[in-house]
Amino acid sequence: MLFRQLFDHESSTYTYLIASGRGREALIIDPVKGQLPVYLDLINQLGIRLVRAIDTHTHADHVTALGDLRDETGCVTVMGEYTRAECVSSHVSEGEIIDVDGIRLKSLYTPGHTNESFSFLLDGRGETPDSVFTGDVLLIRGSGRTDFQGGDPYKSYDSIVNKLFTLDDETLVYPAHDYKGFTVSTIWEERRYNPRLAGKSAEEYAEIMRNLDLPDPKLMDVAVPANLACGQPA
Ligand code: FE
Repeated sequence: MLFRQLFDHESSTYTYLIASGRGREALIIDPVKGQLPVYLDLINQLGIRLVRAIDTHTHADHVTALGDLRDETGCVTVMGEYTRAECVSSHVSEGEIIDVDGIRLKSLYTPGHTNESFSFLLDGRGETPDSVFTGDVLLIRGSGRTDFQGGDPYKSYDSIVNKLFTLDDETLVYPAHDYKGFTVSTIWEERRYNPRLAGKSAEEYAEIMRNLDLPDPKLMDVAVPANLACGQPA
């Protein structure tokens, strides 16, 4: 399997490009518009054919490359069924499997950071541990804010504790962002050491999230409307 974790410095976003092998079909998760040339070069160099471009949720801090990738490669754009982005051509629901050339991603509805966020569980096929792409609902030793776009700390807690934390201990955790330099974690580590969640009740977690007092993302007024149009002018 080809697995590439790409980083956008401006928004601290991770993007994941996954293919069965060179010359085969690929999918990409949470691509950033400003990095489009990087993705197209890499796709070209690896000789892979992009068939799915997936966003975990409507991002507020960067503009998505979904629309540009669709135009450049003919790939199908994918989001969860509750997104308001009408430009997306395929909507997945809880438990639905996305199969790209033997790469199997299971869709998990994980609201809380936004009310339409999905995570995606990559089947390691017994060769490697499974990997979960958590978008912003679960970050490494943190979690995505819950104060706008239909965010809700109780839903976030429920998605993380009652859904993501029930995955196998060894499951690798790949978030959509990191601000401290972490690239990957595991479910075991996050259940044990995530300071917002380990040993915390839903009420305690909600209290922490309510008191974060974060400024709005710099790009929010631009990114959200743009992303509802797949990152392209309406
Ligand atoms: Fe987000």
